[in-house]
Amino acid sequence: ASTSTSTPTPAHNAPLPPTAANPGRSSRIAPHSHIKGLGLTPEGYASSDTGGFVGQTIAREACGVIVDLIKSRKFSGRALLLVGAPGTGKTALALAVSHELGAKVPFCPMVGSEVYSTEVKKTEVLAEVFRRAIGLRIKETKEVYEGEVTELTPTEAENPLSGYGKTVSHVVVGLKTVKGTKQLRLDPTIYEAILKEKIVVGDVVYIEANTGAVKRVGRSDAYASSYDLESETYVPLPKGDVHKRKELVQDVTLGDLDAANARPQGGQDIMSVMGSLVKSGRTEVTEKLRREVNKIVKGYVDQGVAEVVPGVVFIDEVHMLDIECFTYLNALLESPMAPTVIFATNRGNSLVRGTSDIVSPHGIPVDLLDRCMIVKTEGYTREQVGKVVQLRANVEGLRLGEGVLDKLAVEGEKSSLRYALQLLTPASILASIAGRNQMEVEDIGEMNELFLDAKTSASMIGQGGGFDGG
Ligand code: ATP
Repeated sequence: ASTSTSTPTPAHNAPLPPTAANPGRSSRIAPHSHIKGLGLTPEGYASSDTGGFVGQTIAREACGVIVDLIKSRKFSGRALLLVGAPGTGKTALALAVSHELGAKVPFCPMVGSEVYSTEVKKTEVLAEVFRRAIGLRIKETKEVYEGEVTELTPTEAENPLSGYGKTVSHVVVGLKTVKGTKQLRLDPTIYEAILKEKIVVGDVVYIEANTGAVKRVGRSDAYASSYDLESETYVPLPKGDVHKRKELVQDVTLGDLDAANARPQGGQDIMSVMGSLVKSGRTEVTEKLRREVNKIVKGYVDQGVAEVVPGVVFIDEVHMLDIECFTYLNALLESPMAPTVIFATNRGNSLVRGTSDIVSPHGIPVDLLDRCMIVKTEGYTREQVGKVVQLRANVEGLRLGEGVLDKLAVEGEKSSLRYALQLLTPASILASIAGRNQMEVEDIGEMNELFLDAKTSASMIGQGGGFDGG
């Protein structure tokens, strides 16, 4: 509870603590931090190299159309399928789509093969990703009293029940803001909280009207000189009225709520409260629990307390899923609260996993394929590779010496953009070991000798018959 902290922080202004949403997420999207959006003109044309995107104009424009469809709610029950060679920006496009859908839209990437785990059912893995991709913006209006304490008078009264002694029946708190002073008659529980917080006259506090939680914000300037309180934070008097309403917004996902309710914590912060929606001693997220969470969420939405923010599920290497997963995906796509679904693959015709004889484009069964709008990504020219490498180098704060960009562009064109980008970091480490603050062509050359790109590696094994010397 907020009453237990004694550090004088302006807690009511501080952002709410982050909820441990999706731990793997940031590391997966970090290589794409230069991507800010699709970089389209208002008419929907891909202007060259904006939004952090280089080239790929047709794919970007196509994705722009999809974004419009999603925004006008004409994409439900469907999915976007990105097809193209590795490293041609499929993940980057998916992320850009989620950026275009709005700030704080959940983006949940996964790789098809992640469904194969010995502990969790395949469909469970998919269900969880879908839940994490549905955001909820919870709006909470709190009534608070805020001001500088000018008076603290507990009012004692005979307690007819206890039979002996007096108890505090209420406490009179004088609070001052720039606008004036007000006397409040507050509940005895609030007095306890005030004592616990060691609040004295001259402190600036805020008190939540409903819960009685008391927070000490700091000392007021007005009293600063008359007390020896060197280590304190001094704050100016609050500008508004003593009593005000505060709007707090918290972003969570249905996945967070499922997890929180499966392992209720107890407490007063918003996630603990949201985590005790469903009374249960469960330790597992079950379908039943999800349904109960949905019901309560729906109630909140109807009351205007919460707003649903559908996000994006991105399934890379979708050909790795099997027929059971595809069937389940069809059902997930149908559900009324489905996020936007984007698939990616680099396969042509393949066997649908889990079947012995169904060959289908991209290894996706035709019924699901029918729901997909397919967008192809193109390979990159030397110039384009150079531009992306430069973008990444800027983001990562790496300095490129004479000729380095050209060298990487040539390597990237020969093998892949991904390969060129992957050489960047180790080459920069090499440069710093050599005591240089910028990368030189020789660093790239050395890395290039140590590591193989996929094409070279595959062709070597093809000719040599493998690593076992055969
Ligand atoms: P894979 O199929 O192997 O997952 P992918 O097609 O998803 O590959 P990405 O991971 O999106 O490829 O691209 C590799 C890297 O190149 C990322 O850092 C990405 O942000 C960057 N990138 C790819 N295409 C572009 C582009 N057109 N403009 C700017 N950056 C790009």
